[in-house]
Amino acid sequence: MSEAVSARPRVRQWPGVIEAYRDFLPITDATPIVTLLEGDTPLIECPRLAATIAPNLRLLVKFEGANPTASFKDRGMTVALSKAVEEGAQMTICASTGNTAASAAAYSARAGIRSAVVVPKGNIALGKLAQALAHGAGVVAVEGSFDDALRLVREIAEQYPVALVNSINPFRIEGQKTAAFEICDRLGGPPDYHALPVGNAGNITSYWKGYQEYREKGVIEQPPKMLGFQAAGAAPIVRGEPVEHPETVATAIRIGNPASWKQAEAARDESGGLIESVTDEQIIEAYKLLGATEGVFAEPASAASVAGVKQLAQRGYFGDEQATVTCVLTGHGLKDPERAIAVAPEHTTVPAELDAVVAALEL
Ligand SMILES: *Cc1c(COP(=O)(O)O)cnc(C)c1O
Repeated sequence: MSEAVSARPRVRQWPGVIEAYRDFLPITDATPIVTLLEGDTPLIECPRLAATIAPNLRLLVKFEGANPTASFKDRGMTVALSKAVEEGAQMTICASTGNTAASAAAYSARAGIRSAVVVPKGNIALGKLAQALAHGAGVVAVEGSFDDALRLVREIAEQYPVALVNSINPFRIEGQKTAAFEICDRLGGPPDYHALPVGNAGNITSYWKGYQEYREKGVIEQPPKMLGFQAAGAAPIVRGEPVEHPETVATAIRIGNPASWKQAEAARDESGGLIESVTDEQIIEAYKLLGATEGVFAEPASAASVAGVKQLAQRGYFGDEQATVTCVLTGHGLKDPERAIAVAPEHTTVPAELDAVVAALEL
């Protein structure tokens, strides 16, 4: 008789960001952990991209598209849902350009409670809408902007027994800061510069909080300079005033009046960094470059970080020393397949014959 062999995993499974960074989070023994094992996303060296856009830099991308719902929103949502359930919530609500909706819907389903999402009509990428629907969210599109949607859900959350899970929910910020910890842990120290897109400005607030907490605990000595990038048609922080009709191909940062505006300015100023804008052309160029030179497919908003680094490198911002720069790629390119196809050259169709295929491939 053969003895039964028990299947033991050789590497322990990553436990999700709450268990990984519990000491840094507002979690108690009474908190039920709602997780899809988010976090631990790839931090990818990008030498070919660096050679193209900024030859002096050591460039790495934090690929947040590798999270369970394919954006960084999952880091905040695991904490927001865990706390909402702890407090007895039966339903969540959020305004969203898409990824918050996808994540809130998934984590609400995971927790066994209902979710509602309010989105700006017509401006939500197909993949994100599909996710919210697949996870059973009640979806309402409003004839207005993201900022209108956010104003409405804030009012609803004040009057009805629903938990608001936008990034003005402080538990979202807490969860999202774990990405800064992961970067320091994987690099063995902080980067010199940290670049990311800025929309509602929750994420820049989160990263800055994470880096500061690691400094306070003595894990790192010096936090990075924070480099935030808005789209030129949706750049209220750069312009110093709200933008009433924000416009950009990067729908995830199509926001005219960021909820965490002050905190974003604090991150910029306290770190000695900057917040600038990049045009839609620059964003699409960086979006294509990432996919073609490194095999990393991120959504257009994510590419704003890479476009911004290129812009700064071109004007000599980083100097001659080799600096380490991390770019956050906030969401997966598959979220918006229509955009990918729209900006690519058309592919050819030929008869199913060897000669024709070989000729078309220019072999
Ligand atoms: C939410 C989101 C952003 C913007 O993050 P903020 O915290 O709103 O500044 C950028 N990119 C993607 C893909 C997002 O989902």
